Amino acid sequence: MSNKFRVFATCDIGPALDVLRQRGYEVDVYPDPQAPPKSLILEKIRSGVDGLITTLRDQIDAEVFQAGQDKLKVVAQIAVGFDNINRADANKYKIPFTHTADVLTEATAEFALFMMGSLARKMWTAEHLTRENQWSYWHPSLPFLGDEVTGKTAAIIGTGRIGLAMIKKCAGFDMNMLCYDPAYENHAYVSAIQETMDLRHARGISKEKNWIKYVPFEPALREADFVSVHVPLLRPGESPTPTYHLFNEKTLRRMKPTAYLVNTSRGPVVDEAALARALRENWIGGAALDVYAKEPLPADSPLRDPAIADRCRLMPHFASAARITRLSADPDKGMAGRCVQGLIDVLESNYGGDVTKMPYVVNKEAFAK
Ligand code: NAD
Repeated sequence: MSNKFRVFATCDIGPALDVLRQRGYEVDVYPDPQAPPKSLILEKIRSGVDGLITTLRDQIDAEVFQAGQDKLKVVAQIAVGFDNINRADANKYKIPFTHTADVLTEATAEFALFMMGSLARKMWTAEHLTRENQWSYWHPSLPFLGDEVTGKTAAIIGTGRIGLAMIKKCAGFDMNMLCYDPAYENHAYVSAIQETMDLRHARGISKEKNWIKYVPFEPALREADFVSVHVPLLRPGESPTPTYHLFNEKTLRRMKPTAYLVNTSRGPVVDEAALARALRENWIGGAALDVYAKEPLPADSPLRDPAIADRCRLMPHFASAARITRLSADPDKGMAGRCVQGLIDVLESNYGGDVTKMPYVVNKEAFAK
């Protein structure tokens, strides 16, 4: 088979692209750090590329799939979330798209855990104090105190790949866990975590007996000290239990006034205006966010209000931003490697050309016989 495939990458995903070049592919990379305009993506597609490498910044919809209907064979997204790709449109034009699930699971979960600790222990505020030379003396209750993570109760909203990894990490902090997922309850995993908790207690490693259980959404919100969100962005109509604005005025008010919200999923899962108000009016204790309705976070976002800065941590969509996780060319380690492998699988007809057997293809339903 000739490997003279043409690929357009909407950003430079690093050395993994050499894997394609070494196979004889012609690889055209958008050189700037910002996303290319949609008109350029359309122009490249119309020029006849076989594969398109995308990031979550690119809107891939009917216009793109229609432009590619004669030649475009695959869209390979470097991310696990694919809410920027219109699945129904991809299916209509029968173009498979791939994602990079699993290789960023641990990195994202550990970042959520670190955000949780940094928020609750006020590490950002404390470091500012030191740097600004405001650290005057040691005192039991001054200048402010944080809250321990160890031994507290975490609600894990969404128990897919990253939610389960978060559970594993929280268990290491002797946390109790309330799990909520309307579509996928992994009772075997939860039982195994309970067994490890019981063993740690029996051997004197954990002082308290910790517990983990599935509960409905409301009690999870009501009883948790920390709420960590690990859901995909599902807009109304895309799921019987959409996640768009899952955290809104009503649900934020259900949380304890001392509870902390951590969101590493997708920005629109949280109603940001409601959250800013919740922080201003102390409905909840604090929030740490990695993702936003609009990225980068606009200068006039209510989340930037200096009045809530001590209890609102703002990260730049950074949870998967670890060297190996992002750029390794090894498809078992890096998003870039997995993205390229997903593209190769489709273009080179791996798995006997059966798209439904290709591990990184998302919209397999469009190809079921
Ligand atoms: P996954 O598909 O394995 O898990 C998502 C889980 O959410 C599923 O079990 C699903 O049943 C559940 N879910 C769906 N609707 C729900 C609802 N209404 N309430 C509660 N749970 C619901 O996905 P994953 O690999 O764990 O990734 C989760 C999301 O995290 C991705 O879709 C992506 O948007 C986001 N993400 C962000 C970063 C980052 O850098 N911040 C990195 C990786 C992933």
